[in-house]
Amino acid sequence: MALDFTFTEEQKMLEESVYRWVSDWLEPQMEELYEKDEFPQDLFKELGKLGVNGIVFDERYGGSALGYVETLLVYETIARVSNALSMTVGASQTLCFDNFRKNAGEKEKLDILPRACGGELIGCLGITEPNAGSDAMSMTTRAVKKGDRYIINGSKIFITNAPVADFMLFYAKTDPEKKAHGMSAFWFYPKTTKGFIVEKIKKWGMKSSPTGLITFEDMEIPEGNLVGEYNNGVAVLTSGLCTERITLCGCTLGSQRSCLELSLKYAKERVQFGKPIASFQLIQAKLADMYCDYKASKWMAYSAASYCDSLKDKRGGKGTDLDRISAAALLFCGEKGTKIALDAIQIHGGYGFCTEYAVSRHLLDQKVWEIGAGTSEVRRMIIARELLRDDFRSGI
Ligand SMILES: Cc1cc2nc3c(=O)[nH]c(=O)nc-3n(C[C@H](O)[C@H](O)[C@H](O)COP(=O)(O)OP(=O)(O)OC[C@H]3O[C@@H](n4cnc5c(N)ncnc54)[C@H](O)[C@@H]3O)c2cc1C
Repeated sequence: MALDFTFTEEQKMLEESVYRWVSDWLEPQMEELYEKDEFPQDLFKELGKLGVNGIVFDERYGGSALGYVETLLVYETIARVSNALSMTVGASQTLCFDNFRKNAGEKEKLDILPRACGGELIGCLGITEPNAGSDAMSMTTRAVKKGDRYIINGSKIFITNAPVADFMLFYAKTDPEKKAHGMSAFWFYPKTTKGFIVEKIKKWGMKSSPTGLITFEDMEIPEGNLVGEYNNGVAVLTSGLCTERITLCGCTLGSQRSCLELSLKYAKERVQFGKPIASFQLIQAKLADMYCDYKASKWMAYSAASYCDSLKDKRGGKGTDLDRISAAALLFCGEKGTKIALDAIQIHGGYGFCTEYAVSRHLLDQKVWEIGAGTSEVRRMIIARELLRDDFRSGI
């Protein structure tokens, strides 16, 4: 068993090509994009040229037929420059299109997924509602069948990419009395569908990744846009949560790595009391802690991704080891990510408080990883539930 995180030559080449692209294309514009909270319009087309919009998708859908380890590696590499845009990529590729791939019909997949891989379609996923966050199953958005159409009414909040999305996967109640078993999944094209209203939400972090508040007002979609079985949206929803949690660890890992690298550089250059601050033991202790937390986070995330890749059925969900392992990975990475970013700011002193320094953006972005994709509290609830299962095997 290899436990040294040695990537294969192909994985190293993938990381290098993505890092070259983020350094050359994204980094020079990132401070301004963040300041203005602007989304780089060509982002997905650029990623399409790199061939990383459909990493786990089969080649017949335009993808690369690789695994979740590679997905995590790509998200980590993008997040070394922008945690926020790595989240935007994850929301489109993993939350939206990967879940669609797992559950939609072949004809629709052959039509839609190649366009997503080329960067022509940006995706978003709508679960959260103003009054249904952690308790997602209490959602009230309604889909009512009328002839060969569904009429949608309700709202969704905090939807990553909604203001720029061409494609949306979302959930609505089709039989509210049946609660979680009366929910279905649907897709549609937001830019060309009447009754879809989106408002961009102002955020203090994750800027440049657009987030939307959506209202569905008598929005009509064809009956064929149902994803999965009628009233079985819960199966569609849960089939995406574990791979979402694992791959989104990449967003926090990339920021963690950059915070450490930028702090090492700064600590060696910044002179106070006639010496580089790196020579002070209190600064060294922070650097050592940052390194340990990053390495441990990396182990949690990549071992989870590698475990997921080894499974035939990657859907996870309640009662599976993947559920516990993926929740634990994001819980750990998210909390360590905030701590590492705070240490990086401290090492940079007053300069860390200035937007010109990339560590400031990493801090503002990291906090979301204790909230999005299920909060830290929800992740702890999942881990404890699975630990207390009668058939829990402590070795996995
Ligand atoms: C930047 C950003 C991007 C997002 N992107 C998306 C997206 O693309 N699609 C999408 O559908 N959603 C998205 N979300 C929503 C996100 O998943 C929710 O914010 C999250 O699930 C928490 O829901 P909430 O904000 O309503 O908080 P609440 O559920 O109201 O929680 C408030 C607090 O109460 C705690 N709490 C709740 N229930 C319990 C309990 N039983 N026990 C203990 N504590 C509890 C929570 O942990 C939290 O601390 C995004 C959010 C953000 C901030």
